[in-house]
Amino acid sequence: MLQERHSNLLATFERLESNVRTYSRSFPVVFRKGEGAILEDEGGRQYIDFLSGAGVLNYGHNDRNFLNHAMQYLNANGIIHGLDMATSAKREFLERFEEIILRPRGLTYKFQFTGPTGANAVEAALKLARKATGRHSIISFTNGFHGVSLGALSVTGNRYYRDAAGIPSGGVAFMPYDGYWGPDQDTSEFMEKALADASSGFDLPAAVILETVQGEGGINHASKSWLQSVERLCREKGILLIVDDIQAGCGRTGDFFSFEFADLLPDIVLLSKSLSGCGLPLSLLLLKPEFDIWRPGEHIGTFRGNNLALVTATAALRKYWTNGELSARVTKTGHIMSQRLREIGESNQDQSLLVRGRGMMLGLDCGTGELAGKIVRNAFEEGLVVERCGADDQVIKLLPPLTIDEQTLQRGLDILEKSVNAKA
Ligand code: PLP
Repeated sequence: MLQERHSNLLATFERLESNVRTYSRSFPVVFRKGEGAILEDEGGRQYIDFLSGAGVLNYGHNDRNFLNHAMQYLNANGIIHGLDMATSAKREFLERFEEIILRPRGLTYKFQFTGPTGANAVEAALKLARKATGRHSIISFTNGFHGVSLGALSVTGNRYYRDAAGIPSGGVAFMPYDGYWGPDQDTSEFMEKALADASSGFDLPAAVILETVQGEGGINHASKSWLQSVERLCREKGILLIVDDIQAGCGRTGDFFSFEFADLLPDIVLLSKSLSGCGLPLSLLLLKPEFDIWRPGEHIGTFRGNNLALVTATAALRKYWTNGELSARVTKTGHIMSQRLREIGESNQDQSLLVRGRGMMLGLDCGTGELAGKIVRNAFEEGLVVERCGADDQVIKLLPPLTIDEQTLQRGLDILEKSVNAKA
């Protein structure tokens, strides 16, 4: 219905753009502007953005400070493309990241820039782990999502995406994520047993790859103790621990890295999405130096280390990460959101909707994709952009910009509440 009403607006896209498009179906208008937590369509209608480019816009749309840095750089004929040559922009990023993020946390990672998407970083990490250990198998977890290129897809649980590959993906064993068998079962015990038992059928893996909060998989968050058990198992067995912080990192859960609360020291960390601060594509791996065993040029790609994105990424580090203000703000706003979401969830007449997540990465589990679909469609009609996730798209995923002001946040939550109550 919504689609039909807007179809004349989308005629060009429907005629010329592949069927594979997704978000333009959920939000069938033509957007032209963004500022902070607000999107505007071509008709001048404004929407509150609780999608934030699926976790890309943690600092909101078009932060003036970042854009000014980008414009100054462009006006000065700064290098835009330099393959992986040394550039001033890259040096500035490396030095500031080391100074602002790594050193205060006692971390000594090396950086590997990959092609600009998250999946590119996942591919490089899997390849490196296999090369470093001489083993082929990888452990991933139920409901994990790591991208849709073939390697990344092999560690992604969702059958809809896996079926599209056209070939079977091998070399990966899926273990139950924290909470998969209910709150009373510690699923890391199954992993421990499977790895200890020579007859379990599980090969000793090269790496374990996990998200500390599963974004696309339904906003399932792992506990500190579960994460620590998985890390201990990795250490005991010489398995590399890869934390995919592509969606949960860059402050989304409060700390810069989503694993800081559990005191983990992953062997490889993956960052992308909000890294550049303003939506420019940029991806990297942080590697423990002992695993930097690549030979020169062994893993390449034309668009590694997008220089303009490095400029804005450096601006984001300087603006938001030299003190604890943003982290404190995320914790505070996350509490406000989860409290309000709980009230909204409980106000649903048929069955109460469950709230999950950490920091400002929260989900409202509606039980069925049908109900969640109705709610997000109603919400869009009322001016809120919010998406769904989970195996059946049954979870409404709330990712407002970390910098959203409280009034706009509450307006967005008001719309959500109204949409939950309307839902027909
Ligand atoms: N890893 C995680 C945790 C993600 O959420 C995503 C994308 O949503 C990816 C990897 C893949 O990133 P991209 O879509 O940029 O390839």
